[in-house]
Amino acid sequence: MAHVLVLPGDGIGPEIVAEAVKVLQVLSKDHGLSLTTSEGLVGGASIDVHGTPLTDDTLAQAQAADAVLLGAVGGPKWDALPMANRPEKGLLALRKGMNLFANLRPAVLYPQLTHASSLKPEVVSGLDLLIVRELTGGIYFGQPRGLRTLETGERQGYNTLVYSESEIERIAHVAFKAAQKRGKRVCSIDKSNVLETTALWKEVVTRIAAQYPDVELSHMLVDNAAMQLVKAPKQFDVMLTDNMFGDILSDEASMLTGSIGMLASASLNEHNKGMYEPSHGSAPDIAGQGLANPIATILSAAMMLRYSLNAPEQAARIEVAVGKVLDAGLRTGDIWTEGCQKVSTSQMGDAIAAAL
Ligand code: NAD
Repeated sequence: MAHVLVLPGDGIGPEIVAEAVKVLQVLSKDHGLSLTTSEGLVGGASIDVHGTPLTDDTLAQAQAADAVLLGAVGGPKWDALPMANRPEKGLLALRKGMNLFANLRPAVLYPQLTHASSLKPEVVSGLDLLIVRELTGGIYFGQPRGLRTLETGERQGYNTLVYSESEIERIAHVAFKAAQKRGKRVCSIDKSNVLETTALWKEVVTRIAAQYPDVELSHMLVDNAAMQLVKAPKQFDVMLTDNMFGDILSDEASMLTGSIGMLASASLNEHNKGMYEPSHGSAPDIAGQGLANPIATILSAAMMLRYSLNAPEQAARIEVAVGKVLDAGLRTGDIWTEGCQKVSTSQMGDAIAAAL
């Protein structure tokens, strides 16, 4: 039987994860899903109890589980802590410790939410793109990094953008394989006109593309990609990016779908073990008020069933249920428009569970 470690985290994390667990429980009880879950602490919640954002024990539990379902971490309560002890370090340690190098972020516009997008309906309707982001390398992890004081007394910050060929190769394979199951197009994002590391990125991706003759490869500079995402986003099928470019472009893509509260994500290692979480953060501004949209987390649970737990029919059941509830006009505040029924976090979870 598959085992899932549930890490609710901080802010809206516990509220939205509770709704995803509710959906999984209905699938287990009524629809034959074979699953056990246990719960742990991460981020600020772990700092408060253990003094660290991720204990060795929780990391070991995550490594032993078939998948991890996570809410979000962080919040103003822990903002004054030194960088090394911040809640976000717990997430980075999980990604590194589980070797989750591939981050899959689909941006799909449900037809019912066309009017919640910040772009014109004709620009976004039918949008279905996948961002494949490298997650354990690049400038977020590169050494040397830090702050130093120059001879003049002025302080200087520095970080290192570094990628080895093998790191680029393995994420490129993930993107090409994903494209084979979709629209068969990969657009690789770089800044090869300025940064040597991303010139190497472009060269290696081009080399790997030869192994996937059925997939069409194109390249785009990151500044143009940011522009094209809001100008003509439907031109993209799979976007392949490094860690930092993907961080930024995937948040931009999320707004095309109406709300960041709709955007799921999967982070996988080479054995398809993974961590599943919404693309948004802990939203401290709305935490504890029943205002958060749980759909990104519920769709992340669907991705978990598809990629790590080999239960694609159950995954599809969740996705169909989300569509039915949107069809029925139920909306949390972030996706609400005139004429729809405004519901709370748990009412949305209840409705999706009932629609399964
Ligand atoms: P955020 O994603 O938490 O919130 C941005 C905006 O989107 C806010 O207005 C928020 O209310 C709204 N929002 C986010 N999720 C929503 C949902 N499900 N339903 C409705 N509205 C939603 O980003 P932020 O405000 O920049 O960061 C807040 C905290 O989250 C910070 O401590 C940050 O470090 C942390 N963070 C964590 C993660 C993560 O855990 N993966 C990611 C990003 C930010």
